[in-house]
Amino acid sequence: MRRVQPPQLQSQNHKGTDVKSNLAEQKKLLELHTIDSGLARVAYREKNLPELAEHAAVTKKRTELSARLAADLGELEDAKTELGRLESDAGVVDARIARDTERVNTSSSMKDVAALEAELESLYRRKTNLEDMELVVMERVEVAEAQLSATRDLDNDLAEKLEEIAVRRRAALDELASERATLTAQRGLLEDSVTPDLLGLYESLRAKTGTGAALFRAGTCGACTMSLTGNELVKVRSAEIDEVLECPECGAIMVRTEESGLW
Ligand SMILES: [Zn+2]
Repeated sequence: MRRVQPPQLQSQNHKGTDVKSNLAEQKKLLELHTIDSGLARVAYREKNLPELAEHAAVTKKRTELSARLAADLGELEDAKTELGRLESDAGVVDARIARDTERVNTSSSMKDVAALEAELESLYRRKTNLEDMELVVMERVEVAEAQLSATRDLDNDLAEKLEEIAVRRRAALDELASERATLTAQRGLLEDSVTPDLLGLYESLRAKTGTGAALFRAGTCGACTMSLTGNELVKVRSAEIDEVLECPECGAIMVRTEESGLW
């Protein structure tokens, strides 16, 4: 009497398995493998889209530029603060000039007038100095504004570039999602046409080895490309057509068809 092995032990037998399946059904495993390879390619392309690297590179540039933006903005604010301080100082001097001039015009004391005129002379010197300094700082403000504007232009260019990359990334992801949907639908139909035993074996081998089944051709496993020789090859040749064979090297189901060169 034949002992029924629990399912988890079946796949540990690297030569024959307990699952029987006709040629047509085993061929469906090859279609399933093609679809699964397609799904794996879709997943790989999703993770390795050139747009992802492009987006990351431009984002990095923009992050670096944000430090420059902050520095440019800081320089402009400093220059404007400095200009404001000079303008305020000039305002104080102007007020004192106006006050002293008024006193000169109204004072009757020659001594006071002389003192006020001396002070006025000093105030005018101070005013000239402040005006000279204002000119220098105004130029600094202009340079800082131009620099900030140039950096902002660069930042806007990078922001536009990011949007453009994001649009391309979205389109590429949509295309891959549609490819996945098509493959998944095809897989669903195929799954329905393979017996649960065979499908279960295929899935468990795929989970374990990465490839559930591959075409056996010219004495070679299509999954790991190992060529069978000697006893191993004799066993494959002599196995019944409905026997489901696993590769002794990688464990994938070796599907034998007319292309295998065995019969
Ligand atoms: Zn193999």
